[in-house]
Amino acid sequence: MAKRVAPHVRTFDVAIIGAGVVGAAIARELARFDLSILLIDAKSDVGAGTSKANTAILHTGFDTVPGSLESRLVSRGYFLLRDYAREVGISYETCGALLVAWSAEEFANLSKIQEKAIANGYLESYLVDVADLYAKEPHLGPGALGALAVPGEWIIDPWSTTLAYATQAKAAGAVLQLSTRVERIAQSSHLHTLHTSQGEFEARYLVNAAGLYSDVIDREFGFEDFVVTPRRGELMVFDKLSRSLVSHILLPVPSSMGKGVLVSPTVFGNVMLGPTAENLSDKSATESSITGLAFLQEKGRKIMPALLDEEITAIYVGLRAATEHSDFQISLHAPQRYVTVGGIRSTGLTASMAIAEHVRDLLTQAGLDLGKQDALPAIHIPRLGEATLRPYQNEPLIAANPSYGEIICHCERVTRGEIVATLASPIPPQDQAGLGRRTRATLGRCQGFYCHAEVRALLESKGGVS
Ligand SMILES: Cc1cc2nc3c(=O)[nH]c(=O)nc-3n(C[C@H](O)[C@H](O)[C@H](O)COP(=O)(O)OP(=O)(O)OC[C@H]3O[C@@H](n4cnc5c(N)ncnc54)[C@H](O)[C@@H]3O)c2cc1C
Repeated sequence: MAKRVAPHVRTFDVAIIGAGVVGAAIARELARFDLSILLIDAKSDVGAGTSKANTAILHTGFDTVPGSLESRLVSRGYFLLRDYAREVGISYETCGALLVAWSAEEFANLSKIQEKAIANGYLESYLVDVADLYAKEPHLGPGALGALAVPGEWIIDPWSTTLAYATQAKAAGAVLQLSTRVERIAQSSHLHTLHTSQGEFEARYLVNAAGLYSDVIDREFGFEDFVVTPRRGELMVFDKLSRSLVSHILLPVPSSMGKGVLVSPTVFGNVMLGPTAENLSDKSATESSITGLAFLQEKGRKIMPALLDEEITAIYVGLRAATEHSDFQISLHAPQRYVTVGGIRSTGLTASMAIAEHVRDLLTQAGLDLGKQDALPAIHIPRLGEATLRPYQNEPLIAANPSYGEIICHCERVTRGEIVATLASPIPPQDQAGLGRRTRATLGRCQGFYCHAEVRALLESKGGVS
């Protein structure tokens, strides 16, 4: 068990700025050692930055740049997260992807992409002819010429991933400090002093996992190795009635701006269309745009016309931390006992556990003595996926605790028992959005119109806990 830190102690072996999926994975990885760990975030919840708004694909890394750090960490992260999801109960579905060619040029490119996949160590892809493609996806729009099948591309629950990492890190003794913005960093020969909105914290080693703000934190040390350009990705989530239209993740042939617009099932039983890719200057611009949504509708109509006849449940926006470099920007600054983890653009969810291992190794190169290693405390995260048994369907669970038979959110079929349990969990939600990420409550087709009052009352009373 990692060394426990009393709440009044404010000097840590390692501080990690940013409790997104990357920072939380790093905290979890380090918490298994004899170290005091501080995980700090400006927001009131873990995973409330870019990590809450992505396309939630567990990528094989088939289309990364061979030989790049991203290629190595995505390939390894894929297996680590797949096994971790099985261990702690994060929902995933093994749907596979079809990379669909819509022009002769794209069709010719498929075999080059397959060669790239092989160079990236992914050997399972295969070409699909047009007849087979339409047999696999009968609702695909007309005009597709063939596809490359990538059976290893899966969908996963992104919210529970960050929550699981942070929960396990906390259970192993890491201190989670939310609603705390790092405003300035001072350095002495042995310690970093973090001046924050909640006072000062000290740490011997520092990890910058600040996502969109990783370049800003870097400047505190005088480093200007990269500039983060927020790349907006807008997405549409279609109603659950559309789920039967699509069986695979339908990927376009990628371009230099990213992976392009896809149609994908989600583990929550919806279908998503997106994302767009638009470089912005404002790191907080998470509004959707008329042009972005029109662009998605145009693309979606070509990929799957029937999808556009379905109702849209939600629209959301994520900002990728793009930089002027194509690869991840992970670097050790050994004299400063400082590791930068920046530019984790489009694959950070998948790569998170491998990034954490890599950062652990960089810290040891900088002189961090990890000390004794212990097994992490076992945790279990409630499964939110639609493909598995939900609490409202679980008769033994309801017999043991009837509140699991009492549905509060009827669109997503979330029960009082689940809400009460999450409010009493080690990292409870602070608001309705956080509750939604933990239970799916209010995220369905009525977006909380019917259950909002009851959900809010439960949140305010902390489910009767206090
Ligand atoms: C549209 C889109 C689609 C994507 N699709 C996929 C996908 O399908 N599969 C996949 O693997 N990846 C995907 N990604 C990428 C993935 O979501 C990101 O790589 C990942 O979430 C980055 O995590 P992070 O922890 O680095 O950043 P964040 O989640 O942004 O975390 C950084 C945290 O740092 C905190 N912070 C910043 N500055 C400070 C400060 N001064 N003080 C305290 N805290 C601070 C922020 O509050 C934030 O919570 C996608 C991304 C987008 C936008």
